[in-house]
Amino acid sequence: MKLMTYQYDGRTRIGVVVEGAVVDVTAVAPDMISLIELGGGGLAQARQLAVAAANPIPLAEVKLLAPIPVPRRNVMCLGWNYAEHAAESAATKGLSIKELPQFPIIFTKATTSVTGPYDDIPFDAAVSTHIDWEAEMAVIIGQPGKNIPRAQAMRHVFGYTVLNDLSARDLQRNHKQFFKGKSLDGHCPIGPWIVTADELPNPHHLPISCRVNGQIKQESNTAHMIFNIPEIIAQLSRGMTLLPGDIIATGTPSGVGFARTPPQYLQPGDVVACEVAGIGRIRNQIG
Ligand code: MG
Repeated sequence: MKLMTYQYDGRTRIGVVVEGAVVDVTAVAPDMISLIELGGGGLAQARQLAVAAANPIPLAEVKLLAPIPVPRRNVMCLGWNYAEHAAESAATKGLSIKELPQFPIIFTKATTSVTGPYDDIPFDAAVSTHIDWEAEMAVIIGQPGKNIPRAQAMRHVFGYTVLNDLSARDLQRNHKQFFKGKSLDGHCPIGPWIVTADELPNPHHLPISCRVNGQIKQESNTAHMIFNIPEIIAQLSRGMTLLPGDIIATGTPSGVGFARTPPQYLQPGDVVACEVAGIGRIRNQIG
């Protein structure tokens, strides 16, 4: 199923996408995190409503929000999880990658950075002029867990979505740690929906891309992640409980703006589109 959060008739609802329309399943749970917490039973009820397809509303008539518009804690992110991106990033510092890392780089984005799949991205030149794109597949956690073994990890995945880990490179550089430069308001568009895990039995072979004004900037495949999803979940959950609705961005492939010669950054009016085949596409205008 494709599950989305949307506004219609002045209310925020959750729904199932059925052939270009949305079927309201807010009767099952008031919001996406509550639906995720219901587990398989909640999904079964949502599926029943979707099959009955009562009063579907065309997607064009609703406003899509991020599937989880207000996460209960920060979005967790992997840095340098594609070898070619690790190499291009290291090269900007005159370094080369000699061997693959043993542990993933992990940072977070503030909950207030989350925005809808088609929303405009705030731009304030007094804050940052070095806004960069990062197309990523994100994993949504379902069943909570701590010290999850790799072999059990996929049982904790509720589904998948698309995320643009927009990054203010000047702030990232000035403040040393990633948090500030990754957390500007509205700089984490997510969506357009969550594809449930049962619909995507192998998330490790999906084409992933980013286009700016229609021009391809990133083009890779989730097969090239250094740490795959079971490894990510095993490492993140070591001594730290993962909760239903946690969002984990799995890293971006090569082709980001700051590593280009000369560097390229997003300008007001630019349109940035991130797509993961089999999940969907988000599209946001800057400014
Ligand atoms: Mg990233």
